[in-house]
Amino acid sequence: MKVLVVGSNGQIGQRLIRLLKESSEHTVRAMVRKQEQADAYEKQGIETALADLEGSVDSIADAAKECDVIVFAAGSGGKTGDDKTLLIDLDGAGKAIEAAEQAGIDRFIMVSAIQANNRKNWHKNILPYYAAKHYADRVLESSSLNYTIIRPGILLNESGTGKVAAAENIVYGSIPRDDVALAIVKALSEKNTYRRTFDIISGNDPIDDALKKI
Ligand code: NAP
Repeated sequence: MKVLVVGSNGQIGQRLIRLLKESSEHTVRAMVRKQEQADAYEKQGIETALADLEGSVDSIADAAKECDVIVFAAGSGGKTGDDKTLLIDLDGAGKAIEAAEQAGIDRFIMVSAIQANNRKNWHKNILPYYAAKHYADRVLESSSLNYTIIRPGILLNESGTGKVAAAENIVYGSIPRDDVALAIVKALSEKNTYRRTFDIISGNDPIDDALKKI
């Protein structure tokens, strides 16, 4: 599959690009919003597309053309205000979903957040963020796309273990970004994740097995 990674310059995005570049099954195009980010990837032999989630749906659809899947791994981050939460985490995700539909791309993987579906477990310090993730996920679930929504626990930069727990309802936990990136790659063609939404944290099962038994 040819994968467009939205949020390619991010911490999960960079890991995902590395894994997809090494993959014999998949090819990758990195969507970034700055020319210097594109130049850095091009130097490594990675195909890029310049587009901004605050730009038009058309420009994102253009970035995605000829891809088979869009992975949304972007986010406004903790250093911007609620305006960017709304514009990137909610509307940016919504635009990427519309862009997939417009470009005729059926498969879409969303990086959401643990328990985004469950208001009573939203962390009280980041309620607008959780609301944005919640509604972005709902838009995707009500679309006709073949989606997988992966809701990771607190993201860590320690090395991945390749072992996780994945299920429709895990209330709390953390997971290395390495393992989230690997779970995204494994989910691309794992049919048990098609049109499914699940939480994922560090655990005891190899990622392949965990995805098969959600
Ligand atoms: P990250 O390092 O902050 O990366 C986010 C990426 O989104 C950056 O590369 C950024 O681009 C890109 N982005 C922001 N605004 C954009 C725009 N207007 N157009 C295009 N791209 C834009 O995030 P991460 O740590 O990899 O996390 C990825 C995902 O996991 C996010 O959706 C986050 O909400 C979710 N998540 C986080 C946690 C946690 O504990 N932090 C837990 C669960 C889920 P630039 O590099 O150009 O700024």
